[in-house]
Amino acid sequence: MSNPNQNPAPQDTDCDDLSISRIHEGYVLDHIKAGSSMKIYDFLKLGKLEGAAIAMIMNAKSSKMGKKDLIKIECPVGSIDLDVLGYIDHNITVNIIKDNEIKEKPKLRPPKVIKNIIRCTNPRCITSIEQELDHIFVLNDEAKEQYRCKYCEARYHGK
Ligand SMILES: [Zn+2]
Repeated sequence: MSNPNQNPAPQDTDCDDLSISRIHEGYVLDHIKAGSSMKIYDFLKLGKLEGAAIAMIMNAKSSKMGKKDLIKIECPVGSIDLDVLGYIDHNITVNIIKDNEIKEKPKLRPPKVIKNIIRCTNPRCITSIEQELDHIFVLNDEAKEQYRCKYCEARYHGK
């Protein structure tokens, strides 16, 4: 039986190299390419995440990358779409925090299918005509991280 009074002090973690408030539950997105945290903020729709507290750190020093961005999100676990993140940059380190501790570091991969994240720009594509259709892209070349529209097979440029 566990003793309820035995509340171990939160461990320091490698992502807490900057002194901002600790997260009790949520995500720490580490090793974001310097300058791209705003893009990630938009893609993940963090501004619309109800009740979430978000801290963004830009151009932090990194031994691995020189400079990096970092996003800390205090929110219920499960609120963030890791597929979207895997699509944007699968080199981002995801730390899932629960009860003040890192519970999981899921490995990101480019998702096989992405839905309503990017839009097909082919004017002849059915998604341009039928507005209510989902914009679905399928990973067609994993090494090149190349996606094609499910409907017209147009390649997506300009990630
Ligand atoms: Zn299309």
